[in-house]
Amino acid sequence: MDDVGTPGQGSGTLHEAEARFRIAFEEAGVGMAIVALDGRLLRVNRELQRMLGRTEAELLAGSGMRAISHPDDAAARAADLARLAAGEVDRYKRDRRYVGAGGATMWGATTISLVRDGGGAPLYAIGQLEDITARKAAEERAERRAGQQSAVAQLSQLALTEQDFAALAAATVEAITASLDVSVAGLVALEQDELRLVSGAELDDAHARHTLATAAPVVVRDADGEERFDVAGLRARGIASGVSVPVAGESDQPFGVLGMYATAPRAFGDDDLAFLQSVANVLTGALRRLAAEQGLRFQALHDPLTQLPNRALLMDRLRLAVARRRRAQTWVAVLYLDLDDFKGVNDSLGHAAGDELLRHLAPRLSEALRPSDTLARLGGDEFAILCEGLDEVTESVAIAERLLAVVAQPVEVEGVQLRPTASIGIALTGPGTSNEGEDLVRDGGVAMYRAKHAGRGRYEIFDDRMRAETVERVALTHDLRRAIEDGDLRLVYQPMVRFGEGRANGFEALARWTHPTRGEIPPDRFISLAEQHGLIEPLGRWVLREAVGQLRRWRDAGLSMGDMGMSVNVSRVQLSRPGLAEEIFEVLAERDIPPGQLVVEVTESAVMDDPDVANATLDALAEAGVRIALDDFGVGQSSLACLRDLPLDALKLDRGFITSLASSRQAAAIVRAVCDMARTLGFSVVAEGVETEAQSQVVEALGCDVGQGFLYARPVPPGEIPGVIAELDARLGAAAGERAAA
Ligand code: C2E
Ligand code: MG
Ligand code: MG
Repeated sequence: MDDVGTPGQGSGTLHEAEARFRIAFEEAGVGMAIVALDGRLLRVNRELQRMLGRTEAELLAGSGMRAISHPDDAAARAADLARLAAGEVDRYKRDRRYVGAGGATMWGATTISLVRDGGGAPLYAIGQLEDITARKAAEERAERRAGQQSAVAQLSQLALTEQDFAALAAATVEAITASLDVSVAGLVALEQDELRLVSGAELDDAHARHTLATAAPVVVRDADGEERFDVAGLRARGIASGVSVPVAGESDQPFGVLGMYATAPRAFGDDDLAFLQSVANVLTGALRRLAAEQGLRFQALHDPLTQLPNRALLMDRLRLAVARRRRAQTWVAVLYLDLDDFKGVNDSLGHAAGDELLRHLAPRLSEALRPSDTLARLGGDEFAILCEGLDEVTESVAIAERLLAVVAQPVEVEGVQLRPTASIGIALTGPGTSNEGEDLVRDGGVAMYRAKHAGRGRYEIFDDRMRAETVERVALTHDLRRAIEDGDLRLVYQPMVRFGEGRANGFEALARWTHPTRGEIPPDRFISLAEQHGLIEPLGRWVLREAVGQLRRWRDAGLSMGDMGMSVNVSRVQLSRPGLAEEIFEVLAERDIPPGQLVVEVTESAVMDDPDVANATLDALAEAGVRIALDDFGVGQSSLACLRDLPLDALKLDRGFITSLASSRQAAAIVRAVCDMARTLGFSVVAEGVETEAQSQVVEALGCDVGQGFLYARPVPPGEIPGVIAELDARLGAAAGERAAA
């Protein structure tokens, strides 16, 4: 210290001041130094020696401030000191880094004050140094944590919407390298026991696998001394430290590993680990969301029973196929496939068996197709197959034949061997045609119905004739709706006769529609149109009201109805909806007609369609006294067994049956058996469509009770009925008289 001018040299009081300074300097709780203007240290106190871990001699001998300053701060420090030496400033305060004990970086809050001589010229400086390493570290940690938190928040936001997982993974890796200040980070995925790089840098295989094996974070503070796994790989890459965490997947299986490495040994702290874990959780969240979305998308476009594409997906692919087709000279076909008698399987073996059958058939159908074809389930037992790129129309036929063959292979369902068959309708669009996608499915369906009617187990191609029919049907349905609304339908009435009594006995109400331009439309046609297009209920309601109203008028006029009363046809569709009985009761009550005067004609197939609802309705009607007639017996299944279970009042033998009586002895035997059974069960048998005297005599001889047909009377408008009845009674009475006389 003697080689410098010491502060306060001279008089006694100065000596005293100097002594006080000396004590204050030496004993100060902060590090202090007297610094020459060139940066050399002239004097250092004990605390400074302690803080820097060097002796007074070491500090004074070295290159002063330069020796104790952190190299990164050297330039700034030199600049500050130069301004001080030049007398430009008197004092400055800085947070600076120093080389502390053992070479560790020490943060110091530094205050340097200039001392001037009496003339104001700079003499030397007094420096104070406070160790703020701990505070700085805490600040840095807080700052880093805030940075990490905001990085996680940003990633979470991204993970909510990003559809591309690879993009999210890239953003994640970037956030890790930026927030943790590490040289490399990466995400690898575990796929069939292989680690595949998803984003960033390849992770060390041994490190990553150890992470997966322990299913926990693996922190490597220093590769030297790492014993849990082989660090040869890390060493080879010059990596000294790192952290990895497992990334959970959308299911229980891990998705992969997220990790980062530093080239220097590093004490990765809890914060770092927590950050990495949060980022891994964000990835897992995104994986789960993407999987869920994919599941939802799949669900929306697939049939849950067979996992096949559903109608929506088919239509989508069809639209694309039709658009593609326009550019290529090829054909697109839709094959509409419907199992034959699937209802029979459901009814006899139960719905579970029906489902099982469909599940069996789906893969079989798929195997018969090309990979580029789309097999979709439209619902129920209906499938559609979309075939693109066909060179010839005949290719679609080959496919249909293949499909029919695979369907027909025996299949065991619930222990029962089934040999299903199917009907297929083919609709095509190709060079020179202009169908839209929607048309193809609809047309395929039309052709499929044709195939069914033509005898099942076969295919039909939708052609121009069918197209014309379709167009006409649409137009006709439209007109029918209007006709029902405008009350343009009429009813005609056909009398029946009771054999033996020789007089008219009841009427059947039959609907008629005269189309304004097309003329008379047969009821078979417009009734089936109405059934298919949701018009049968309004139509049926109108028929019922009209017929019952007519019955009221005739009763009021004193016209004899006989015990058969008024027969009204009820469609299968009407019968399959609950509430029909109530509607009928209401109409009868409104017109004050005894229920026994109304006969409801239902067909056997209508009853078999949905036996539960039909039986409930028929039972309710019968209970109330309404009569039930089974119409068109002889077409369809004609099961005698079911006659026993129905509350029947009459059975109407179909006209076809009556016609075949002349040529078939078997038909005669059946009619006789039915009549015998009817007598036992207590219902009447009506012969329909009796056209000749010969037929009339045969059916009467076989035991039929009632006849209906052109021989007796044609269906006529209500106004003509009194005349027809009078004529009929006279004719029958005369004939009976003749017979009696003979
Ligand atoms: P259906 O109930 O079996 O009616 C008897 C059909 O046989 C009527 O045909 C009738 O005109 C016809 N017919 C009667 N006697 C003879 C004959 O001697 N020879 C020939 N060739 N035919 C005869 P229509 O009026 O054409 O009705 C056909 C079918 O349309 C009816 O068959 C019935 O199933 C249905 N239908 C008619 N009106 C209605 C209705 O109001 N509602 C419902 N749901 N169906 C109706
Ligand atoms: Mg009828
Ligand atoms: Mg009939």
